[in-house]
Amino acid sequence: MIIIFSLFYLSCEQKNTPRTFFSLGTVCAVNLFEDGTNEKYDIIVEYVNDVEKKMTINNETNGKNEISEVELINAKSGESRVVVSDETFYVIKSAYEMAKKTDGAFEPTIGPLSKLWNVTSELPKVPSQDEIAKMLPHVNWQNLQLDVDEKSVFLKKEKMMLDLGGIAKGFATDKTVALLKKWGVKKALIDYGGNIYAYGSKDKENPLWKIGIKNPLEPDGGAVLRIDLKDKAVITSGIYERFFEEEGEKFHHIIDGKTGYCAKTDVASVTIVSDNATEADAYSTACLVMGLEKGIHFLESKTSVEGIFITEQRKIFTTKGLKEKLILLNKSFEIIQ
Ligand code: ADP
Ligand code: MG
Repeated sequence: MIIIFSLFYLSCEQKNTPRTFFSLGTVCAVNLFEDGTNEKYDIIVEYVNDVEKKMTINNETNGKNEISEVELINAKSGESRVVVSDETFYVIKSAYEMAKKTDGAFEPTIGPLSKLWNVTSELPKVPSQDEIAKMLPHVNWQNLQLDVDEKSVFLKKEKMMLDLGGIAKGFATDKTVALLKKWGVKKALIDYGGNIYAYGSKDKENPLWKIGIKNPLEPDGGAVLRIDLKDKAVITSGIYERFFEEEGEKFHHIIDGKTGYCAKTDVASVTIVSDNATEADAYSTACLVMGLEKGIHFLESKTSVEGIFITEQRKIFTTKGLKEKLILLNKSFEIIQ
């Protein structure tokens, strides 16, 4: 929520009422400015809800008596392949490719562990070592099998579970952007739970949007820095948004598939800037698992993807392409590179 406020505050030019709605387990907001009509907003909400309908693994938790395509794949793990819609296949294929590129830091079969930790439940608790050890063999993206011709998905071992929570919001963002292009919308801001897309030119004199990056250490503390850009996804993963505390220790919702524990990371948040929101979403989750050194090194090897890493020591690191572009707003933080 805070990002959207700081974002809209910084962007400072609202002509029509933007639409805010709840989907994909988070608060989503979209603003089409002068092109915003109820009809367009309704279609966008429908599009995003459709992503949730196809890809959620939370129907049971949410008391819904339906089954998504991903839940069906999970139910058939170790048993049979499932033919899915083009969209679900595209997201799972992207997730698979990201897992490969990040050597499993992005782990789309994290489901058994994310369900075990259940960080966002009302009474989360740290699982026992034994419980974690039991789940680890069921988590491995290499046992995810895709057939591009028939668009089918197969989890080769039983009890495996896909969890697309680290990529689906990015996909919903890209899907919305495609719709805006089709409609010829001039400018828009999208924020799906911290997955931001600044679309089109803000105005003739100042085409760039001023996007605030939230303070990950004091989440109510406004923006740490600003970056001015257009036609880019700005996607953040942090250890501050969804977590619980037990015996003074914090446990967040991004899990290292290799250890089964929440990722022991030296960064508080990672923000990815890219044209492609689906990829950026997966990269932000993966870089959080990788940590600062590995994460930056990894992003430097990619073209057209940039990253901003904020540490608990209030230091900000960035890939070379963004070096000159960050505007520090909170002087208790320091830009290192
Ligand atoms: P958020 O959902 O808060 O925006 P992310 O995009 O980083 O943050 O996604 C976190 C979600 O991704 C978790 O809630 C879980 O569903 C899933 N997840 C957790 N660990 C991993 C991982 N190592 N790889 C891929 N997805 C993960
Ligand atoms: Mg993500």
